[in-house]
Amino acid sequence: MGDYIVRATAANEQVRAFAITSKNLVEEARKAHNTSAEVTAALGRSLSAALMMGSMMKGEKDLLTLRLQGDGPMRGVTVTADASGHVKGFALQPRVDLPLKNGKLDVGGALGNGIIQVIKDMGLKEPYVGSVDLQTGEIAEDLTYYFAVSEQTPSSVGLGVLVNPDESVMEAGGFIIQLMPETTDETIDQLEANISNLPSVTSMLADGLTPEEILEKVLEGMDLEITARMDAKFKCDCSRERVERSLISLSDEDLDEIISDDKPVEVRCQFCNKAYNFTIPEMKELKEMRIQAREERHKARQERIQELQEKQKNKNK
Ligand SMILES: [Zn+2]
Repeated sequence: MGDYIVRATAANEQVRAFAITSKNLVEEARKAHNTSAEVTAALGRSLSAALMMGSMMKGEKDLLTLRLQGDGPMRGVTVTADASGHVKGFALQPRVDLPLKNGKLDVGGALGNGIIQVIKDMGLKEPYVGSVDLQTGEIAEDLTYYFAVSEQTPSSVGLGVLVNPDESVMEAGGFIIQLMPETTDETIDQLEANISNLPSVTSMLADGLTPEEILEKVLEGMDLEITARMDAKFKCDCSRERVERSLISLSDEDLDEIISDDKPVEVRCQFCNKAYNFTIPEMKELKEMRIQAREERHKARQERIQELQEKQKNKNK
């Protein structure tokens, strides 16, 4: 079964809901970054949440970034999703090994105390940035708190990743339930009763429940209606051209230092860990391109100044 996200409504549109199955994409992220179990859990929960939150956005080019920063050994996680089911992401420290806490992976311990940031880039001048303190570092609780405080939307978030003894991903997924402003007390009571009887996300995933079946459990007796289904993938948009552009934008000193080291350069994409290699002659070529670009900018500026001076002259006549 491939990874996918479903959108749904319930209780006469008083509730909106999202659920995801994300085992394959979390496994792909794990392999790309060679993450240990705790980090796979943190990264997998973040990737799943970002995909569901990304699917809440309207624009084709909108991007949602989830950034967790903490003082624990993992230090942080950054993931970026679009509105069409694509996500990429990484942890600052991919291998952290902590003892189990109450028989579970200690994600909160790996992350420590810190903040969670949600950045929505919707093509406006300034992106929207919402930020709250981490509550537990277990991510689902932190997002529930974020939605309540930063977006004033009462929500319930459940996220889970199960890791095999060989570190591969057994299951991954989750859900987000949100109450609309006109939600009645009856609906809230029913939802609270459902959630208090709900098995953990990991146990529902272990039982092989699909996203639709998870929502049926969370929203039992509340007239669930699935409204959309979308495939989900781990996908990075890095390219050799992009890496070249970032190398060209280095300072003269940095470029000269790299060239004088006389060793081939390997640049890795932070999001997908793909390696891009540059030989010294290629680095020299990039430096040449940088010099040319600078000369062209200078020439264009001179021409513009001349043009303005001509205009001024004509005016004075
Ligand atoms: Zn990449």
